[in-house]
Amino acid sequence: TIGMVVIDGNGNMACGTSTNGLNHKIPGRVGDSPIPGAGSYVDNDVGGAAATGDGGVMMRFLPSYHAVMMMKMGASPGEATADALKNIIRLYPDFVGAVLAVNKNGAHGAACHGIPKFPYSIRSLQYDEVTVIEVPCV
Ligand code: ASP
Repeated sequence: TIGMVVIDGNGNMACGTSTNGLNHKIPGRVGDSPIPGAGSYVDNDVGGAAATGDGGVMMRFLPSYHAVMMMKMGASPGEATADALKNIIRLYPDFVGAVLAVNKNGAHGAACHGIPKFPYSIRSLQYDEVTVIEVPCV
């Protein structure tokens, strides 16, 4: 999955995901990517999130929505994504995937599970070059 969260010059946010569905491809499958809250989610007043991993599992937990609601309640992007994943892992301990989040101020973070580390790219006023950030997974 390619997931993206963006903020424009007026502070408006958008998100999106595209997926080849490679590991999960069966005829007629919709998957998580186009489902708001599963593949990605934005609340313009809070921030946005995007997720990757087994969409069949993620659709049951809406990790992107979960992360945005956590940020709405005051969590940092890192805390919010960790909590969204924790919610999945308690029932699917073998889940492999990641969630990334950006709040409306541009703070960002990610959490991942089942792989050693998860890289994501950022470009912003603070990062004038595309910069790859790696987070260690739980
Ligand atoms: N979420 C995608 C899917 O289930 C797969 C992925 O993230 O690579 O289609």
